[in-house]
Amino acid sequence: MGDIEIAQKNKMERIAALAKEKLGISEEHLEPYGHYKAKISLDYLETLKERPDGKLILVTAISPTPAGEGKTTTSVGLTDALNRIGKKAAVCLREPSLGPCFGMKGGAAGGGYAQVVPMEDINLHFTGDFHAIGLANNLLAAMVDNHIHHGNSLAIDQRRVVWRRVVDMNDRALREITVALGGMSNGFPRTDGFDIVVASEVMAIFCLATSLGELKERLGNIIVGYTRKREPIRARELNAHGAMTVLLKDAFQPNLVQTLEGNMAFIHGGPFANIAHGCNSVIATQSALKLADYVVTEAGFGADLGAEKFIDIKCRKSGLKPDASVVVATIRALKYHGGADVKELEQENLDALEKGIKNLERHVRNVREHWGLPCVVAINRFSADTQAEIDLLRQKLGHLQVEVVLAEHWAKGGAGAEELAHAVVDTIDKCPASFQLTYEDDLPLWQKMETLAKKIYSASEVVADTKIRAQVKRLQDAGFGDYPICVAKTQYSFSTDAKLLGAPEDHVVKVREVRLAAGAEFVIMICGDIMTMPGLPKVPAAERIDLDENGTVVGLF
Ligand code: ADP
Ligand code: MG
Repeated sequence: MGDIEIAQKNKMERIAALAKEKLGISEEHLEPYGHYKAKISLDYLETLKERPDGKLILVTAISPTPAGEGKTTTSVGLTDALNRIGKKAAVCLREPSLGPCFGMKGGAAGGGYAQVVPMEDINLHFTGDFHAIGLANNLLAAMVDNHIHHGNSLAIDQRRVVWRRVVDMNDRALREITVALGGMSNGFPRTDGFDIVVASEVMAIFCLATSLGELKERLGNIIVGYTRKREPIRARELNAHGAMTVLLKDAFQPNLVQTLEGNMAFIHGGPFANIAHGCNSVIATQSALKLADYVVTEAGFGADLGAEKFIDIKCRKSGLKPDASVVVATIRALKYHGGADVKELEQENLDALEKGIKNLERHVRNVREHWGLPCVVAINRFSADTQAEIDLLRQKLGHLQVEVVLAEHWAKGGAGAEELAHAVVDTIDKCPASFQLTYEDDLPLWQKMETLAKKIYSASEVVADTKIRAQVKRLQDAGFGDYPICVAKTQYSFSTDAKLLGAPEDHVVKVREVRLAAGAEFVIMICGDIMTMPGLPKVPAAERIDLDENGTVVGLF
């Protein structure tokens, strides 16, 4: 049975009843979107401020491979398992983007018997948050061109407009376009382009703001372009930030849905993990911590990118502190890291596994030594994994004295992850975290990049052309030096070369481009090609997605 069939066979409970039963939220504090989705009122969340926080568990993983790792699936399975062993636990996840859903990736609501439901809704329009975020972004874009059209009193240089339009679809034809063609009444023609909604700075801001007031403040800080003298022009100067906040006010309330086993899932916000920080909203995580004793949350990509940004961007800004981390690995992905061919991952291959384990070891070391988080390794079990492989993995990790737990939630639901749940609870009880960031705020931008690359990626040095170095210096001198950095690089390797699998050392990281996100408050260092508007593959998933004669969605795997 595919993921969607499992999800559709499941009998859901009314969200209002479940929210009351599981988290004690009264119906009047919920704004239901149908029977199975609801938003939680911000006024109610405000009343929880004095409550103590639950424990925060960060689910991260080895460097991703085409073989799949299963972070979302494990986050959901672990949450169900924690509830099964008597803990009050909830999960916090990102909202899926429609682009990958119709492209290659399919749905992003977990898999097998560890999923969040209603799966179709979560993967499709859900509660309309992405629509609101896209419109807030595009309102600002329209106001920029309108300002130029009506006399341009702010003297925005048309060649230096940096604010792009967005749509939540993979559409390569929109990457570079020319706008305002067709005559004087249509404005001044200029080149422009679209990004996917999840790559928008509005999305990053939405996920970092802790209140509507802060949301508006940060939206006002967005830099839309520059004058000929290179003075920045902010959204505030166009008076756009108030109306943008209005468009976002409902979306900003966290969404509540359920897992297949009827536990609570907060699914809210979904920034890209390359040019943004790749985790769900701060407001959802903070709310979940007030309402549950254990909160499981996922960070995108591998720990070098996802967990690092979770820590250095999300936690730094919000004061969140994880208590433990779960590093997800699969035997198949480790074999791939050790050189096995992607077509032969079903076959036992102890040799490749042994080599590939280095990738996992490096991530575990980083999580423990650099961020001070106690950690448990979860082996997300696939049916082809052999006992000899599992034994070898345990033996090879022996020297790290890390708990390695086999988890079978994909096949068995929460029951398959009870051992993992016990291991996580024990770890939190016995090993208090001595949480630390990778670098401090006052370290200069360039040294932040060097520190990160050396500590977390095991690089020997960071290089960049003179032009880029000068740009970093300009940002430093202009007062942005205390921002954290957000690295955009390949997720497949610790290095900037996607083909260097395993645990490459002494590689050189080259920064090719620098961008400022003045509203999100980070400096993006781009090390490689990054895609802010993906394309569809030759045969997109959309060709298989359909509505059958009973009105049921099919093909959304
Ligand atoms: P991530 O969050 O790391 O990107 P997901 O949890 O979304 O990964 O899983 C990716 C895909 O792999 C999903 O379609 C899921 O159903 C599948 N998957 C995850 N774990 C398993 C498993 N143990 N066996 C088979 N398929 C799995
Ligand atoms: Mg995921």
